[in-house]
Amino acid sequence: MILLDRVTKVYGKGSKPALDRVNLHVEPNEFVIIVGTSGAGKSTLLKLLTREEKPTSGKIVVGGIDYDQLKDKHIPLLRRKIGVVFQDFKLLPNRTVFENVAFALEIAGMTNREIKNTVPKVIDLVGLKGKEKQFPHQLSGGERQRVAIARAVVRQPKILIADEPTGNLDPKHSWDIVRLLEKINRYGTTVILTT
Ligand code: ADP
Repeated sequence: MILLDRVTKVYGKGSKPALDRVNLHVEPNEFVIIVGTSGAGKSTLLKLLTREEKPTSGKIVVGGIDYDQLKDKHIPLLRRKIGVVFQDFKLLPNRTVFENVAFALEIAGMTNREIKNTVPKVIDLVGLKGKEKQFPHQLSGGERQRVAIARAVVRQPKILIADEPTGNLDPKHSWDIVRLLEKINRYGTTVILTT
């Protein structure tokens, strides 16, 4: 599902590599946790997977796509295979829970009917049934992260990437989020999370 072969990333000329000849092999349906201190290169690794950054050297293959062959016009296709969740949620503040999740489908060109059919199922999956009409500021941190996870998985990506998803949460809410990610993993999504 994911292959990194001696991947090196150097941001500035002469600076120390953020990643130095990293090898990684993730099988479909694995749940992988990447642990490291601040500055260890965790976010860099995830940004290479989502193609926000390009490696200085080394090979990356994700879901059968060799990044050396990847043209810019194919990046949207790649991003459809990969859902992303961030530490700071990145929700739209003026949209409700339902609308935040629906937005991911709107930009993918889904019809209203498909959206009305799909979004409630995903909101139910993440345990937010009954909160559809709430706005992000009316939710706890843990609930906001659930919305972000619903938005990330609503298009059924093969891979879910979560960059320190529990970084802003207390231990109880952190465990709830990890359990939710485990549930999504059991349904057949490869999960990569950093902490
Ligand atoms: P982590 O996520 O483990 O905290 P990062 O991947 O964010 O680590 O950072 C790894 C190293 O790369 C750090 O030394 C950081 O300063 C550097 N770095 C990260 N992003 C950039 C960037 N856009 N430009 C220059 N240096 C960067």
